[in-house]
Amino acid sequence: MADKITPLIAGNWKMNGTSASLAEIARLAGLLAAGPPPRCTVLICPPATLLAPLTAIAAPAGILTGGQDCHPRPSGAHTGDIGAPMLADAGARYVILGHSERRADHAEGSELVCSKAAAAIGAGLTPIICVGETEAERRSGDAERVVATQLAASVPGDWGGCGIAVAYEPVWAIGTGLTPTAADIARMHATIRQLLEARFGAAGAGVPILYGGSLKPGNARDILAIENVNGGLVGGASLLANDFHAIISAV
Ligand code: PEP
Repeated sequence: MADKITPLIAGNWKMNGTSASLAEIARLAGLLAAGPPPRCTVLICPPATLLAPLTAIAAPAGILTGGQDCHPRPSGAHTGDIGAPMLADAGARYVILGHSERRADHAEGSELVCSKAAAAIGAGLTPIICVGETEAERRSGDAERVVATQLAASVPGDWGGCGIAVAYEPVWAIGTGLTPTAADIARMHATIRQLLEARFGAAGAGVPILYGGSLKPGNARDILAIENVNGGLVGGASLLANDFHAIISAV
């Protein structure tokens, strides 16, 4: 991992968790307190219903919280949506945007993701902008072009103070137990780094690039050691404090 970038280990609880799940955060806080200080920023992105109560438990333990989506507008007649200022008000510091499940389930395109990212930045949140190819795109040799296209259209041009993070998440690796080879991860992260530097110069060199897709305690040490992998976006393994703590400890 590049020394100058503080690694970020982010948990994405997706549509999982009720108030009973708050005990898992208390357990994670206990595990963190019992060991050496983590060598990374620790973030949990729960469902919006848990954001405020989870932040109340997480914040004293140094665990940051984030949302899983936001609307491009701050408020208004958008039933069922949530504005970035609302996430910030509930304690969020980050928001995951453009996750492949939202791109697939809600037909979100990169232009919409970009406007959501601008809204997040406007509310003082750091967007974690997700990109990644499908299995068919990887098989046809199109993975880098797809990711480059998504990146160019999803990342806003102006992100000043609160910064951004990018998560490379091959769609076929999410929740499947499959991961790309270390060489494939290294190649894609290097490509993303080059594109960020070409567009944003020194600021692009400082953007954390997370890997996501079946990151587990058993593979975290190897994947997090790959050049230009500055942390992880963790789905299933973030739901259990022991597994998530093991990934944090692998940094
Ligand atoms: C994700 O959905 O962002 C993810 C990486 O999921 P999993 O870790 O379960 O593959």
